[in-house]
Amino acid sequence: YDAKRGRHGVSCFHSRLSQAASDQLELEQALRVALSSSELRVHYQPIVSTEDGQPAAVEALVRWQHPVRGLLSPGEFLAVAEESDLILRIGEWVTRQALRDVVTFRRLWPELQVHVNVTPRQFVQSAFAEFVQDSLRAEHLPKGAVVLELTEEALSEPVALQRCRDLNAAGFLIALDDLGVGYSNLTRMYELHTQRLKIDRSLIARLSPDHADQRSTRPIVRALSIFAEESGTAVVAEGVETPAQLEQLRELGCPYFQGFLEARPLPVTELLAYLRAKQPTETPGGRASRGPW
Ligand code: C2E
Ligand code: MG
Ligand code: MG
Ligand code: MG
Repeated sequence: YDAKRGRHGVSCFHSRLSQAASDQLELEQALRVALSSSELRVHYQPIVSTEDGQPAAVEALVRWQHPVRGLLSPGEFLAVAEESDLILRIGEWVTRQALRDVVTFRRLWPELQVHVNVTPRQFVQSAFAEFVQDSLRAEHLPKGAVVLELTEEALSEPVALQRCRDLNAAGFLIALDDLGVGYSNLTRMYELHTQRLKIDRSLIARLSPDHADQRSTRPIVRALSIFAEESGTAVVAEGVETPAQLEQLRELGCPYFQGFLEARPLPVTELLAYLRAKQPTETPGGRASRGPW
């Protein structure tokens, strides 16, 4: 045993640890600057009907236009934000921006809703409902214009669960996000009376038409579609990438989807172009009617 090398190993370990810590601190500071110097962006991904491809909503997804590293996705910076108050400030910023933008979208597509991702840390705050209500009022939007996306993690904490129920009772629309990869609890899922269920992309990726395929998630998607229908909820499949997946969703009775097959998350101007292209051209006397959710 070489004492010298041992010591060297230890100091190496320490410096690697402190390197990670200082990288994190640096990222956090840069993110603070980004927030105040408007480097954050919101992109919007359409959520459309599996039957006729008509948009029902868009999901707001945050991006960071980093001056050096380019466009960063949430996976690259949200974890750091979660460890400080930054997640609350980013959350509020995204919500306000999304509600401002949906006013513009609704001029082209009147009933369009905007889904906003909310972390447990945001909505356990006692003033959260008031904040959303004030933001809606500032844009003269009805409550139904926004859908709050909560993950199953939200259902694991009693406080969070109660907040969820309060939001629901106050008339806010709630979507359960990333369904199937967290703590699925059918009773809670039912008792919450959420208005949307979003089936996680990992389950859609394994949607094989082969009935003999034990790994195929067909039975799960079918069961969730029936659950949704019976409980007056709308189910949305996430991460649809192929026409074959869409075909199966139709067959299984899943009414809505989002995914690269339809559109990637788009900046405002591109989303507007997308909506324009979706608009029916003909019909004197106005656009063909679209049913609500
Ligand atoms: P999520 O809420 O489940 O959002 C869906 C993610 O799936 C998005 O990733 C979207 O770009 C991606 N996606 C959509 N369709 C497809 C597809 O067909 N194939 C593949 N491979 N991916 C697809 P994104 O934008 O990187 O966001 C990742 C996660 O970050 C989100 O997952 C959400 O949990 C979180 N997030 C995003 N924006 C916000 C925000 O403003 N606030 C909070 N708290 N979380 C956010
Ligand atoms: Mg989401
Ligand atoms: Mg999701
Ligand atoms: Mg997901």
